Amino acid sequence: MGFTVAIVGRPNVGKSTLFNRLVGKRVAIVHDMPGVTRDRRAGAATLLGMDFTVIDTAGYEDATDDSVEARMRRQTDQAVEEADVALLLIDSRAGVTPLDRHFADLLRKAKTPVILVANKCEGRAGEPGLYEAYGLGLGEPVPVSAEHGEGLSDLFFALQPYAEAAGALNDDEDEDAVEQSAEDQDEEAANAAEEAKAAARPLQLVIAGRPNVGKSTLVNRLLGEDRMLTGPEAGLTRDAITSEWEHKERRIRLVDTAGLRKRANIDDPVEKLSVSNTLEAIRMAEVVVLVMDAAAILDKQDLTIARMVIEEGRALVIAINKWDVVEKPDEAMARLRDRLETSMPQVRGVPCVTMSALAGKGLGKLMDAVIEQHKTWNRRISTAKLNQWLEEVVAHHPPPALAGGRRLKIRYMTQAKARPPTFIIFASKPEELPEAYTRYLVNGLREAFKLPGVPLRLFVRGGK
Ligand code: GDP
Ligand code: GDP
Repeated sequence: MGFTVAIVGRPNVGKSTLFNRLVGKRVAIVHDMPGVTRDRRAGAATLLGMDFTVIDTAGYEDATDDSVEARMRRQTDQAVEEADVALLLIDSRAGVTPLDRHFADLLRKAKTPVILVANKCEGRAGEPGLYEAYGLGLGEPVPVSAEHGEGLSDLFFALQPYAEAAGALNDDEDEDAVEQSAEDQDEEAANAAEEAKAAARPLQLVIAGRPNVGKSTLVNRLLGEDRMLTGPEAGLTRDAITSEWEHKERRIRLVDTAGLRKRANIDDPVEKLSVSNTLEAIRMAEVVVLVMDAAAILDKQDLTIARMVIEEGRALVIAINKWDVVEKPDEAMARLRDRLETSMPQVRGVPCVTMSALAGKGLGKLMDAVIEQHKTWNRRISTAKLNQWLEEVVAHHPPPALAGGRRLKIRYMTQAKARPPTFIIFASKPEELPEAYTRYLVNGLREAFKLPGVPLRLFVRGGK
């Protein structure tokens, strides 16, 4: 069936509308498509010149033979298994519902990559749901309006790397070379466009940390007294407060769930770290500032939070607060760097800013780091440059030989998405590529393309 895309999601989010938009009038009769069973529709779709097969899972809700949930799950599982990419649709006007979360949980466990699509975003009506959609932990949602045909180019760009990866392996080499040099020139433009797009929206910031490190003091400092609190507002967690300001012409939007945190512990004299509240806050963020106390850096709770930030794929900045009471700053700094390197190798080079929220020192540096990390987190690297690099590192240090003396072949690489930078490598026997070798590649990527401190994702897939 070539490159195949499944549309999944709960009833009424607009699956059929999107399906119809993508296939126009060329809907295939389902039973004619090999591998597609009766209750899913498949069609030949075109999007800005990219051809693919689209599978729609709408319609199961009419079934009476067993529970909707069970059917839904079977439908989704099968469609997703058949597809190269799944589009999880949500209705951004309705916001994220428990059923959406259920789908997100299912899909997170699937091997097929998922693109989160926020439908019904025409005008600005979908904006609240768009922010909320980050909370599904599936990365950046692509805003579209299936009914009005808006956002389809963004959808194209989200699908393109997967289509390219699926198809580019069949291209002959000359064609590849031409395409790649053209693409190289596009890289700067792509990054500039990405930056412009990102700058138009406020940078979504969350301050996290265990109790008593100085989060509230920092938030108050950042906001100052004259700033307006906006919220609580639709689309965010019930008790979240947001506020906006500018740092060096960049709009910053702080999401603060501290109200929730304090209230939940009202009967508890010693405030404890609430992992679920922290996770909820992290999911609201693009950048997380993890505040630590200079007197007790990287204790277990600090590491727990850092791990959550990395797993959620957010950009991380570490703030070492209460630096005003540190007696030997140089020694403390050296110790700190050392501990960071050994405790958090997944984010090697993570920015680490010393500050005093109480004295109001280091806030400018902190915000500079936040903006810089956000840029790195949004970086795009051209396929040409990636493959040139891949060829060099593989030649320099080939993957270990397989049993029987044959070599595992690493064929091709592409960046699937930014936020966080996510790469796919195609190899002859992906399951036999050792963990250590993947780590070697990730470290190399970080060095070569200057991606310090952001979580990087690298998937290894079987080449066709
Ligand atoms: P499905 O159950 O997921 O297949 O959803 P449908 O495609 O049947 O759409 C459900 C409802 O949402 C219909 O009333 C559509 O007209 C409406 N709808 C679909 N896409 C959009 C959109 O982009 N904007 C708005 N406002 N409504 C939409
Ligand atoms: P939160 O629980 O993380 O929100 O921490 P708070 O902001 O409530 O601060 C906890 C305690 O640390 C308070 O007594 C603050 O005055 C103090 N504190 C916060 N920032 C600093 C700082 O930069 N230096 C010093 N010495 N104390 C601080």
